[in-house]
Amino acid sequence: MSEKSSVRKIHPIVRPVPGVAGRTSEWRTQRPELHEENCTQCMNCVIHCPDDTIKVDPDTGFPIIDQYYCKGCMICESVCAPGAIIEIKTLPGGDVDA
Ligand code: SF4
Ligand code: SF4
Repeated sequence: MSEKSSVRKIHPIVRPVPGVAGRTSEWRTQRPELHEENCTQCMNCVIHCPDDTIKVDPDTGFPIIDQYYCKGCMICESVCAPGAIIEIKTLPGGDVDA
């Protein structure tokens, strides 16, 4: 075995945790809105949310977006092929729709 191939590589895994940076919805100027009628429950949005703020409703199987911590990056919208997530503009502070 060569010296190079015997080197053990360690790949850290960083798992997002909601709220580590405070109430991140204060940063946003838009928020996602789920339209279940278009959702195929593919879970792409759940996997790709960088803040882990989308959970799965155990009863219905649909995603649930935690609007308190959602920072409005809209990655969930961009990975949702059926267009079940739409963007709603918000006023500064993130709580109130524009
Ligand atoms: S990515 Fe879109 S279709 Fe897939 S679970 Fe999320 S909202 Fe539903
Ligand atoms: S906009 Fe979507 S992907 Fe971004 S933090 Fe909010 S729920 Fe997660």
